[in-house]
Amino acid sequence: YYIPEPSNEPVLTYAPGTPEREELKKAVKLARKEERDIPMYIGGKEVRTGNKIKMSPPYDHKHVLGHFHEGDASHVEAAIKAALDAKEAWENLAWEQRASIFLKAADLLAGPYRAKINAATMLAQSKNAYQAEIDAACEFIDFLRFNAAFMQEIYMDQPESSPGIWNRLEYRPLEGFVFAITPFNFTAIAGNLPASAALMGNTVVWKPNYSQVYSAQVIMEVFKEAGLPDGVINMIYVDGPVAGDVVFNHPDFAGLHFTGSTAVFKHLWKTIGQNIDKYRSYPRVVGETGGKDFVIAHKSADPQEVAAGLIRGAFEFQGQKCSAASRAYIPSNIWEAVKKQMAADLKEISMGSPEDFSNFVNAVIDKKSFDKIAGYIDRAKKDTDVEVLFGGNYDDSVGYFIEPTVLLAKDPKYTTMCEEIFGPVLTVYVYDPEQYEETLTLVDQTSPYALTGAVFSKDRYAIELATKKLRNAAGNFYINDKPTGAVVGQQPFGGARGSGTNDKAGAGINLLRWVSARTIKETL
Ligand code: GLU
Repeated sequence: YYIPEPSNEPVLTYAPGTPEREELKKAVKLARKEERDIPMYIGGKEVRTGNKIKMSPPYDHKHVLGHFHEGDASHVEAAIKAALDAKEAWENLAWEQRASIFLKAADLLAGPYRAKINAATMLAQSKNAYQAEIDAACEFIDFLRFNAAFMQEIYMDQPESSPGIWNRLEYRPLEGFVFAITPFNFTAIAGNLPASAALMGNTVVWKPNYSQVYSAQVIMEVFKEAGLPDGVINMIYVDGPVAGDVVFNHPDFAGLHFTGSTAVFKHLWKTIGQNIDKYRSYPRVVGETGGKDFVIAHKSADPQEVAAGLIRGAFEFQGQKCSAASRAYIPSNIWEAVKKQMAADLKEISMGSPEDFSNFVNAVIDKKSFDKIAGYIDRAKKDTDVEVLFGGNYDDSVGYFIEPTVLLAKDPKYTTMCEEIFGPVLTVYVYDPEQYEETLTLVDQTSPYALTGAVFSKDRYAIELATKKLRNAAGNFYINDKPTGAVVGQQPFGGARGSGTNDKAGAGINLLRWVSARTIKETL
């Protein structure tokens, strides 16, 4: 069997005059006009409870995109039952048949659904057109195509045999169902967490974030059109604790595929631990959680490159990425030049609705996020060991807008150098260029997270020192680049320490978590 060799989906530019721009504008207009009525999907059936939750764009409180139907514990039970009922037929389907469904889904996303899923991601998740394209189209398509190829590699990885003895590994799916909990900030991650487990023969209960329901529905439409059998992926909108109470008490719970906050993940892990005697097998617990991602520049670094890395790394998608640059360590010899370039770049950045394609920064996702970020900014305005260098304004009268904000900390352990803010706030600490090695130690020891990080330097010894000393400080380490934008198949993504179980999305390592191998020895 041969899976077509994958390559990364080319990113469309949406430049003025291009057909994709016109098509996307049309899709955005349509999405704005129609009021969506979004059901849950259980066992292939659309379930409407009448308990409707309104959806509004984060950048435009007045507009209503539609609503979705929230469920309760009975819907979680129904979704688990549907997953278990669908399991036998699905896991016995030849693996290339399963691959074919997800490869078709990738083609549908690349073609007829591209504008629709990008528009949903722009309107409901407040991403600009280019960021939606990179996420909802390209990264999602890449996950689907590359995972099919990784699956083939896994299945082909077989032990030695000898004359008279044939040894083989059978990569069975987990025994039970997988629970996927997905975040608002990446449509690709939302689709990939249920899809990767399903690809390996599992059936799934999927709970998307309430702010991502719109694009989640498009994903379900795509999977259905691609031929995914009923019950393989069941999508429910149920309050977290209510859903958790049913799922984690169920004897057939076999695995958790999670992306979200560190606090929630730790809570779920403890719950699973407490219930461990109830389960048939030890559940697989896979999570990507928080980050406090760093950029350190060496005295040899190019200030323009550092400034560009900081602006893009910190402020793309309003800093609402686990990977966003949020603490920077800049040596004093280049600081003035970096600051000047950042000031110039920030002047060029416009903030507003993503429906206007010229806006780089849009609104943050919701009130809770807005209040949390604004709280950090307010405190910084009052505290004496930090200075608001750029930005610092926010306004939620029309939407949840927060200006890209740069703080300058006198204390390298100031709160915003340590805690995850998950918003457009970057804190800079300026260090003595002769203290590079000590500063690397500081970078390593300042936060409990270890997701991404970057070093900028023209000096190979300085690069090597950073690579060695920051070995455990980031699961994705960048040399002379911003710490964001991992590409499937090129930079497998995931962090350790407080940032997750490091089971690398966009790599075979992740798929291995969704199988439980049986070794077969046959004497011939
Ligand atoms: N994979 C994304 C990146 O490399 C970040 C994903 C996330 O924020 O969870 O930028």
